[in-house]
Amino acid sequence: MDLDFSTEEQAFREEVRRFLASHLPDAIRERVRIGDHSRIRDDIQEWQKILHAHGWGAPGWPVEFGGTGWSKARQYIFETECALADAPAQLAFGLKMVAPVLMRYGSPEQQQYFLPRILAAEDWWCQGYSEPGSGSDLASLKMKAERDGDDYVLNGQKVWNTLGQFADWIFCLVRTDASGKPQKGISFLLVDMKSPGITVRPTRLLDGSFEVNEIWFDNVRVPAANRVGEENQGWTYAKFLLGHERTNIAGIGASRRELARLKRMAAAQPKGGASMLQDPVFASRIAQVEIELRALEITNLRVIFAEARQQAPGPEASLLKIRGTEIMQRISELQVELLGGQGLAFGDGSGERARATAAYLNLRKLSIFGGSNEIQRNIIAQMILGL
Ligand SMILES: Cc1cc2nc3c(=O)[nH]c(=O)nc-3n(C[C@H](O)[C@H](O)[C@H](O)COP(=O)(O)OP(=O)(O)OC[C@H]3O[C@@H](n4cnc5c(N)ncnc54)[C@H](O)[C@@H]3O)c2cc1C
Repeated sequence: MDLDFSTEEQAFREEVRRFLASHLPDAIRERVRIGDHSRIRDDIQEWQKILHAHGWGAPGWPVEFGGTGWSKARQYIFETECALADAPAQLAFGLKMVAPVLMRYGSPEQQQYFLPRILAAEDWWCQGYSEPGSGSDLASLKMKAERDGDDYVLNGQKVWNTLGQFADWIFCLVRTDASGKPQKGISFLLVDMKSPGITVRPTRLLDGSFEVNEIWFDNVRVPAANRVGEENQGWTYAKFLLGHERTNIAGIGASRRELARLKRMAAAQPKGGASMLQDPVFASRIAQVEIELRALEITNLRVIFAEARQQAPGPEASLLKIRGTEIMQRISELQVELLGGQGLAFGDGSGERARATAAYLNLRKLSIFGGSNEIQRNIIAQMILGL
């Protein structure tokens, strides 16, 4: 199998690099580089608007909905180069989660209203799947939606809603029938976060940041026109959403960027008369993770090229998620180890060193969200090993 990008794809990569050099604002690039999240909403929105103005607002969408129509290989190149250049990641909840569901199952009115607004960064979306007690076992979710005339009335709680404190809209899985099999009584609703009865409470995380939220719904009225597809068929749409975004699941670009940062930090850390980068033990640990990352990158490319030949992706996505998150966590561990005792003073000062411990703590989430790594191993066991 040829795993090299074609001449055309290599030219595209150069075009993306030129674009990033000329269009990514320095202030945003610097905040992403040092992990400063103080303006995260504004930075993501501004970057989305810049991409949209260039016609690159939706790398994964088909042209008919305003997307680029790019191949998986081009999307991969684009996202990898953006991460390497310290561009903010585009907000997945609108672009990569609810949008594909709307394209496939939404009404023409929903498509016409919501999709252009996502593209132009006019609406900030968040995801309302998990509840206390319903994470891995998502189908057990309980948040009630009872029909009352033209509305549903929502009562219950969602949890872990990433960046939900900024959201204009939330897409929710709700219980519309509790009588039969849990999967058969779930509906998919689009909820305006300005609706009366919604309370958002941000959760302070280990690294001191406010990234996730608890959201309560107390007699919140949602027009039935905001239901996507059929009542009680929401589980089908939820699974479609979870399985949709696969090209960047391994986060290769982010890991390559962090590996380069690790090497910079090691070069700046004195050891004897030299630096930690020359320390044979530490250097061999960096080499080990670099080899693993390179192997993962090749596996990721094999999956992308297989998809390009119309072979549907299968449990490979689980494999990429497990290895990708393990490698990212490993790199962050090495960054903190390098700092020694100084790593304990996280939150003090600024720059690469100060962000290392905060990033280490934050990245523990990677093996939990998006389907925990244990759940991904179950999928591999069932689909590959036939257990
Ligand atoms: C930082 C962060 C951001 C998140 N963002 C969002 C969001 O925006 N929207 C949203 O809806 N959700 C979000 N989540 C929720 C996330 O999807 C859940 O945390 C995840 O699905 C795990 O569910 P849980 O927390 O209820 O843990 P549980 O399901 O209770 O799992 C606890 C532990 O048991 C293990 N386990 C559970 N079942 C099995 C099994 N069958 N076999 C083997 N091991 C098992 C799990 O792997 C885990 O280690 C986020 C989570 C985090 C940490």
